[in-house]
Amino acid sequence: MKLQELQTGILIIGAGPAGLAAASAALNSGKQILIADDNPVPGGQIWRGGPKKVPDTRAGIFWDRCQNALNVQWLHSARLVAFNHTHEAIFELADKVVSVRYERLILCNGGRELLLPFDGWTLPGVTGAGGLQALIKAGADVRGKRIVIAGTGPLLLAVAETAHKAGAEVLLVAEAQPFSALSRFMWQLCLHHRSKATQAISLYWSLKKIPYLSNVLIEKAVGDAQLTEVHLRRGGELMTVQADMLACGFGIIPNTEIARLLGCNVAAGVVTHDERQCTSAPHIYAAGEITGFGGVEKAIAEGHIAGLAASDQVVSQDDETKREHAQHFMHLLRETFAVSEEMRQLASDATLVCRCEDVSLAELRQHDSWRAAKLVTRAGMGACQGRICGAACQTMFGWDAPELRQPVFPCRTSTLAAIAASSLKEAK
Ligand SMILES: Cc1cc2nc3c(=O)[nH]c(=O)nc-3n(C[C@H](O)[C@H](O)[C@H](O)COP(=O)(O)OP(=O)(O)OC[C@H]3O[C@@H](n4cnc5c(N)ncnc54)[C@H](O)[C@@H]3O)c2cc1C
Repeated sequence: MKLQELQTGILIIGAGPAGLAAASAALNSGKQILIADDNPVPGGQIWRGGPKKVPDTRAGIFWDRCQNALNVQWLHSARLVAFNHTHEAIFELADKVVSVRYERLILCNGGRELLLPFDGWTLPGVTGAGGLQALIKAGADVRGKRIVIAGTGPLLLAVAETAHKAGAEVLLVAEAQPFSALSRFMWQLCLHHRSKATQAISLYWSLKKIPYLSNVLIEKAVGDAQLTEVHLRRGGELMTVQADMLACGFGIIPNTEIARLLGCNVAAGVVTHDERQCTSAPHIYAAGEITGFGGVEKAIAEGHIAGLAASDQVVSQDDETKREHAQHFMHLLRETFAVSEEMRQLASDATLVCRCEDVSLAELRQHDSWRAAKLVTRAGMGACQGRICGAACQTMFGWDAPELRQPVFPCRTSTLAAIAASSLKEAK
């Protein structure tokens, strides 16, 4: 497969709110910018489907600014799979491989759901909460489907709204946190984040016919070839709900793989940065979900600063104040929706934790590190490359993050061959 070679001043990986804000801020400098994303249209998770199709007008404004700028190039449907050396990124596209040489890099590659295993979580009909949302946004028909949404975090309500609007019968939103934590969170929102409080209350009212219960844990999903029942536990009380789908999620975890590969410092699961969003690695900046789950305002505020900093522009006091406010919300989310000891123990010995390689909790428990477990059981060696089970093991056992090697995502052998050919050319 042919390798196309491109060059740019600033490479932005991820065209979600953080990446679009970064490009929009950096383009005034006149530097060449290239923004790459593995989705066919920009927008990331929250503006999935394209910036012109979502009600949030900021998406369209960023898109128009970037589209009309002569110094912004796009690579759509382009997945970053490797780095040839620190200033050359390799992307796999449907019909080619593209290498991009850059001077500065802004990482805006977002986060993914944390999925914790429990009995029955591999049954057809059980999905991630954000996964269900993405399916619906991509056109999946859920009309008339009876859905239970469970786990923890504000995403559960957002998913309930999406499913409800798409014609599903949302039976229940089961939040694992206690009522006291949720009311403290609401109180803090009213004090410090009025618009979020209003948003949360209006969302809650728009879904008022759907029960939203606190302190509920998933016990198991039941069915033969398809989910038919969800068993839940609230204190000592067991509840059984007949359902067609169960959508669950336990928060968002940053996609730190690319940053770690480039030697950027990661602490407590997030990419660390200074006041200019610069990571511990020179000329590499980070913004949005990869520095911690904090919602769209944080992604935009950080992306804007990263774009200014990477293009040597001045960051104003106002920009910093907006980021501080958005980061305060991130800390509130982290405190309120932290994974509890009970959530870590949803799985039984027989539960398959690595669903690609069929490795059970009992098999994993015999080891004391991810590396040891992987060597003996093949956990993490399947299609997801430990992105789901590795994160689950980190949460359940406190193990280190899975080790990394290139390519960071599974890719075609022809892509590997193109990368190798380019490295050889470089070495000559
Ligand atoms: C599943 C899910 C659902 C969510 N739903 C909601 C919601 O309903 N409401 C809400 O307020 N917030 C939601 N959020 C949170 C929301 O995503 C963030 O607040 C916001 O979108 C963060 O913006 P970002 O730019 O940091 O990341 P994202 O919006 O996630 O954008 C990151 C982009 O990077 C791309 N990318 C990642 N890896 C690569 C790679 N290797 N190569 C190329 N491109 C790559 C991704 O495809 C994505 O387009 C959701 C988050 C997730 C994970």
